[in-house]
Amino acid sequence: MAQSNPRLVVVGSIGLDTIETPRARREEILGGSAVYACAAASFFTRVGMVGVVGTDFPLRHRRLFERFGIDLRGLQTVEGRTFRWSGVYEEDFNSRRTLKTELNVFADFEPRLPPAYRRAPFLFLANIAPALQLHILDQMERRPRLVLADTMDLWIHMARTDLHRLIARVDVLTLNDSEARHLTGRHSLVAAAHAILRLGPRAVLVKKGEHGCLLFTPHGIRVLPAFPLEEVYDPTGAGDAFAGGLSGWLASRPRYSLPDVRAAMVHGSVIASFGVEAFGLDRLRRLTRPQIEARVREFRAMCRV
Ligand code: AMP
Repeated sequence: MAQSNPRLVVVGSIGLDTIETPRARREEILGGSAVYACAAASFFTRVGMVGVVGTDFPLRHRRLFERFGIDLRGLQTVEGRTFRWSGVYEEDFNSRRTLKTELNVFADFEPRLPPAYRRAPFLFLANIAPALQLHILDQMERRPRLVLADTMDLWIHMARTDLHRLIARVDVLTLNDSEARHLTGRHSLVAAAHAILRLGPRAVLVKKGEHGCLLFTPHGIRVLPAFPLEEVYDPTGAGDAFAGGLSGWLASRPRYSLPDVRAAMVHGSVIASFGVEAFGLDRLRRLTRPQIEARVREFRAMCRV
C-alpha cells in the first residue's frame, strides 16, 4: 500500500549521545533533536524525519523509529560515522555543559526533501546548522501553514548571519532563555523576545526548562509553567520533545488559531515531562495516548486560575 504523505516534516540531528547526570551516565544512546521531536510528534500526527546517519547507526534504532510510526523516506544513510554529542548536567539539572560535538556525517550533509514531503503543511526545523534549515525551507514546493524553528548557542555564536536570514522566514522561533539573551544582548526576556519579533517571525517561544515557557506575539504574552515532576532523570531533548509535541498536535487539527497554540503548548509540555522521566527515549517508547490525555487533564486543572 502506498505510504501517505506526512502532515509534519522535521529536520534535525540524529545521533548517539553520551550523557552524564548527577544520577547516572549513559554512553552512546539514541538522541538528536529530530529524534526527540519526531518521537513526540508521532503521538498526534504523521511525521516525516529528515536527517542523516552513518553506516555505524544501529539497526535497532531504525526499528524503534518504525515502531513510533515515523516516515523514514527523508532519512539518508551515508558512509561514515553518525553524529555524536556528549554533555554533563550540574547538580540542579538546569545547567548543562557540552563536552563534545562530533558532526561527522552532518559536516557534509546536503538535506534532500523527498517529493512526498515537499507540500507538507507543517515544518519543524529542529536544532541543526541554520544553513541546513534554510536549505530545507527552500525545497518546500508551497509555503507551509506553519514553520517552526529551533536553534542553540553554538549557531548564534558561529552562524549568526544565516540564523538572522532564517528567523526572518519562519513563523515561530523557539529558543531557551539564555539563547534569547545571547542572540539579542538584552537581559529582560520581554525585551529580548520583542527584539526577535522585529526580525520577522510571527511568534517567539522562549523555553525556561523546569520553569516552563513564554509565548510572545505582537498581540501579547502567554505563560505556561512546566508540568511539575517529583524526579527528573535526563532533561536531554526536552526542548525538542516540547516543540515536536506542540507542532505534531497542531498538525493534527484541521485548522488552528491562537487558542489552539496554547493547547498545543500544553500537549508539548506534557510529552516533554514524560520524556525527562527516563534516559533518552526510554520513557517515550513506553508512552501511550491515554497516559498523555490523563496528564493533559491533570495539567490543565493545575494551571486554572
Ligand atoms: P536539547 O536538550 O533540547 O538541547 O537537545 C539535545 C539533543 O540535541 C541531543 O540529543 C543532541 O544529540 C542534540 N544536539 C546537541 N548539539 C547539537 C548540535 N550542535 N546540532 C544539532 N543537534 C545537537
